[in-house]
Amino acid sequence: MINKRGKKRPPIWQHLSKVAASLLVVQAVILGTPALTKPQEEAESTLPYNQLLEKIETGEVTRVELDRRGKKAKVTFQGQENLVEVDLLDRNPELIESINAANIEFEIKDSPDNSAAIGIGINLLLVLGLILGLGMIIRRAVSVSGQAFSFGKSKARFEMEATTGITFQDVAGIEEAKEELAEVVTFLKEPEKFTAIGARIPKGVLLVGPPGTGKTLLAKAIAGEAGVPFFSVSGSEFVEMFVGVGASRVRDLFHKAKENAPTLVFIDEIDAVGRQRGAGIGGGNDEREQTLNQLLTEMDGFKDNAGIIIIAATNRPDVLDSALLRPGRFDRQVMVDYPDYQAREKILEVHARNKKIAPEVSLKKIARRTPGFSGADLANLLNEAAIFTARRRKEAITISEVNDAIDRVIAGMEGTPLVDSKNKRLIAYHEIGHAIVSTLIPHHDPVEKVTLIPRGQALGLTWYTPNEEMGLTTRAQIIAQIAGILGGRAAEEVIFGWSEVTDGASDDLEKVTERARNMVTRLGMSALGPIALENMNNQVFLGNDWTNRVEYSEEIGARIDNQMRKIVFDCYGQAKKIIRENRSVIDMLVDVLIQQEVIEGDDFRKLVSEYTELQEERFTLAKG
Ligand code: ADP
Ligand code: MG
Ligand code: ZN
Repeated sequence: MINKRGKKRPPIWQHLSKVAASLLVVQAVILGTPALTKPQEEAESTLPYNQLLEKIETGEVTRVELDRRGKKAKVTFQGQENLVEVDLLDRNPELIESINAANIEFEIKDSPDNSAAIGIGINLLLVLGLILGLGMIIRRAVSVSGQAFSFGKSKARFEMEATTGITFQDVAGIEEAKEELAEVVTFLKEPEKFTAIGARIPKGVLLVGPPGTGKTLLAKAIAGEAGVPFFSVSGSEFVEMFVGVGASRVRDLFHKAKENAPTLVFIDEIDAVGRQRGAGIGGGNDEREQTLNQLLTEMDGFKDNAGIIIIAATNRPDVLDSALLRPGRFDRQVMVDYPDYQAREKILEVHARNKKIAPEVSLKKIARRTPGFSGADLANLLNEAAIFTARRRKEAITISEVNDAIDRVIAGMEGTPLVDSKNKRLIAYHEIGHAIVSTLIPHHDPVEKVTLIPRGQALGLTWYTPNEEMGLTTRAQIIAQIAGILGGRAAEEVIFGWSEVTDGASDDLEKVTERARNMVTRLGMSALGPIALENMNNQVFLGNDWTNRVEYSEEIGARIDNQMRKIVFDCYGQAKKIIRENRSVIDMLVDVLIQQEVIEGDDFRKLVSEYTELQEERFTLAKG
């Protein structure tokens, strides 16, 4: 296996701290060794200090040797060969006096100063340590700059796994994506099947979806199912400081992949290299563009059936260079989205396989409580629960560990998903408000789905299927759009009251204002008549001249405001009316939405019409 980043070196301060630590140890050892601090003595007998004074007075002493540092005196007695040792006090003025008085031979012989020697030794060691440390820094620096100059044979920064050991069984809840990719597996396994009938195999597949939804896992599973090696690299690895490094990495990667064909090459975060070229303020990024060009060249370079499939992942398909999406490159896109309730249950099942879970814990219930969790969040959730269980010395994961784990995962997640049931209900009413108004008002695009799964900033969303022939738009359609967008706020107000309306509608209101303003100032769709009072003037970045805004008087400005207000108020009135008249359908739909988090457009319309028919029947029955 080729490593991704080579060996990880510890940061330099770790080296230095190691050197410092060893110095401290050395110092402690030296200071703590008593043998070094004590002068060697050859004296054989000892004598108390006061007796020495007496003996000097009596004239028995012939010679005294003073060691001030060691606080000792070596005394020679009359007629004796051996020295006698006397322990001195800190200061000994009376001794000196009596020696002088008795006129005894006297010498000062201090023992060598060991502490000074130790000090010097330590300093030497410090200097040595510093030199060593410096040497290491310099060596590192040299090797780094060496790398910079050897980028021609750049270090491979991709990973290769001969077998991933992951199968489709490990990937749950994204059945559609799996189905689409099953074909890729067949191709890698038995390319003859396709080549025999002259079918062109896609070279690249783009997995599009938010982080943690299983894109990498899916790619690994394809390699695992097909039994081919898995090459992976992250787009950000390509983007280096030095121009040309990324491109040479791409070359390396494809070179290795070809040697090992059939293979699967996985490029994560492809948007890091694949952004639209020439975009962005302040000029392009040479390095990134070269890398992208190299990638395109490589993809074109190998034949259709060379046995290499490239799978790339991104959550920003909108920023990708259009050249990447052309036929013969990443011409297939597979969406991998946040899992809905059922998918979450399946993912939990996968990750519960190797864990001991108490029988009373219901994965269904966990799935219910975790809207907005990605597959990675769910895997993390069960793992956290297992950690809690181990810490509490329990046999199996119980509900209390699951609860704590959910709290921990949510606290660590972006945005707060809807676990709180009061908020959830309010958001459900807001979304159903959009959906019901836009369904019941004429001329509106059909609802595609309503969801309570939070996404980015949005806590809930209502999607529409735009008209296929995006041709001209009529006034009635724009009015219907405005009413539909206001449906959310209208539901909040009608159901919960004026004081309970929320700031969640701010995006909606911006859209409404923009549309109403367009109607009045650009499209001539108000009582101000067919006059263009403004141009498309907000496209500075496309290089449009934004100074050609038509000027109008303050009076006209006030009239524009009035007309906009009229349009918006009319629409808001219509929306509120629809909400009020359909209150019981809305209540029912909200319950369904809270239950299943997603209602598909067809189901939504069916529910509405069934319910309304039922009401009408009851109504006629009651009448008749
Ligand atoms: P992405 O590449 O989309 O950011 P990953 O594939 O790296 O996400 O997912 C991270 C982890 O989350 C996986 O290793 C797996 O444990 C878990 N996971 C994500 N999606 C799924 C799924 N659909 N089924 C099972 N596990 C999943
Ligand atoms: Mg990934
Ligand atoms: Zn809304």
